[in-house]
Amino acid sequence: MMKSNFMIVDDILSKATKEKRPVLTEIEAKQILAEAGINCTDTRLATTKDAAVALSEEIGYPVVLKISSVDITHKSDAGGVKVNLPDKAAVEKAYDEIMASCTAKYPNANIEGISVQRMANAGTEVIIGMTKDPSFGPVLMFGLGGIFVEVLKDVAFRIVPLDKNDASDMINEIKGKKLLEGYRGQDPADIAFLEDMLLKLSELVDKTEGIAEIDMNPVFAYKQGAVVVDARIILEAS
Ligand code: ADP
Ligand code: MG
Repeated sequence: MMKSNFMIVDDILSKATKEKRPVLTEIEAKQILAEAGINCTDTRLATTKDAAVALSEEIGYPVVLKISSVDITHKSDAGGVKVNLPDKAAVEKAYDEIMASCTAKYPNANIEGISVQRMANAGTEVIIGMTKDPSFGPVLMFGLGGIFVEVLKDVAFRIVPLDKNDASDMINEIKGKKLLEGYRGQDPADIAFLEDMLLKLSELVDKTEGIAEIDMNPVFAYKQGAVVVDARIILEAS
């Protein structure tokens, strides 16, 4: 049985369980994270081109459009992500191109629609995740995005629940820490805000049953604040 202290979280988890669906959509994942107090880009579902335009106008240009399908894990590889769309015409064109590319690459995918998101300003890319270790239980991961995690495996881990010192140590121990302190004219990242994100994620994971894996990749960190731009949640087999 899945249970947490968060109402939206419970609703989403029981819906997915009922549908025998182990993967949540990015929209659901961001709703769960947002309820836990973690800042995510405003992300909403459109099921028609007109709805995508209407949502873009509500959110405000430029926007990002992304395929929403639990069967498409690597959205960019499928041609399922279009960023920095400046106006209605660009949104309409992106909608058609995303649908065409994703249905060609994944003819059997169950496509729920296309998500419309606020375009986040560029920042220092970090990743934050949770996996379950067979002996230690839930473990949080923090690292710098892109090649730092993929090639250099520069990541830090801590067992849930984290305290303030754990969160701060985790960020301090990555080798690329300098990049978060402002490197060659780049803005420093808001480390206190990132620590707080780790603590909020720890609390969510600690108080929620049934989540196997969380992946926030990337998170954009700024001089002030940070925002989750892509998120994925996988549930435990029930
Ligand atoms: P995937 O990892 O499934 O390929 P993402 O959602 O991570 O897809 O999108 C790919 C890239 O597009 C991200 O790494 C990020 O650089 C950019 N991106 C995605 N969403 C946004 C957004 N809302 N604002 C700004 N950039 C975005
Ligand atoms: Mg991603």
